[in-house]
Amino acid sequence: MARHRAKGQLVDVLARVDLDRKRAVAAVVAAGALAGAGFAQAMATVTPVDRIVPVAATKDLAAVMTGQQQPESIRTVHSVDSTSETRKLLQAEQIQVQFTVREALKSAETAYAKRQEAIQAEQARVKAEEEARRPKCVRPAQGTFTSGFGARWGTSHNGVDIANAIGTPIVAAMDGTVIEAGPASGFGLWVRIQHEDGTITVYGHMNTIDVPQGAKVKAGQQIATIGNRGQSTGPHLHFEVWVDGGQKINPLPWLAERGVTL
Ligand SMILES: [Zn+2]
Repeated sequence: MARHRAKGQLVDVLARVDLDRKRAVAAVVAAGALAGAGFAQAMATVTPVDRIVPVAATKDLAAVMTGQQQPESIRTVHSVDSTSETRKLLQAEQIQVQFTVREALKSAETAYAKRQEAIQAEQARVKAEEEARRPKCVRPAQGTFTSGFGARWGTSHNGVDIANAIGTPIVAAMDGTVIEAGPASGFGLWVRIQHEDGTITVYGHMNTIDVPQGAKVKAGQQIATIGNRGQSTGPHLHFEVWVDGGQKINPLPWLAERGVTL
């Protein structure tokens, strides 16, 4: 009976095998331990069978059956090697337990793999959703719009200015590739980013540059910080938009078309 109880516990443990790998492994270890206990208990409870005595082999069958008479002699009709039989029984038991544990492990592994697949699918779905929600175009810096595109002080201002404190983040207006990042005449430092449609955005006067040339950047990703380098009268971002291989256009309508106002 102890053996059956141990088996029952084993079944319970296997039934509780969770999808989680750690718990699955723990359950299999526990199952192995219980299997070991069942094996030991089996060894203790198996009764050696020395002699098998068919009732029909006795004399005075009727008398024995009615309890009127004790049999005069009991003949041994079959004899087995008890040690060998017990060993075989226990080996069979052990094989059965090993098989059960293996099956439990297999099923736990399958469940774990299925759950991992589900988690990955969910992560991919969330990522795709985030990607779909991500703005395609953003304001290149927070701050005060201080100067527009066009004629200014008898010269042409090829971009727009956004003033803010030195160190204020400057971000990529759209996804793209950094095609230039370093010193530039008049700009002090500049970063130029080429976008998918060929448009280039230019960022000038920055204090620090935070992306190397060649880097792939996302809209809203910090690329630099506002500075006061080059021909600048105070800390601000000078922002330009180049189309058709270098034609500088007014960034305001270009940004507005993309849902961004300065
Ligand atoms: Zn400017």
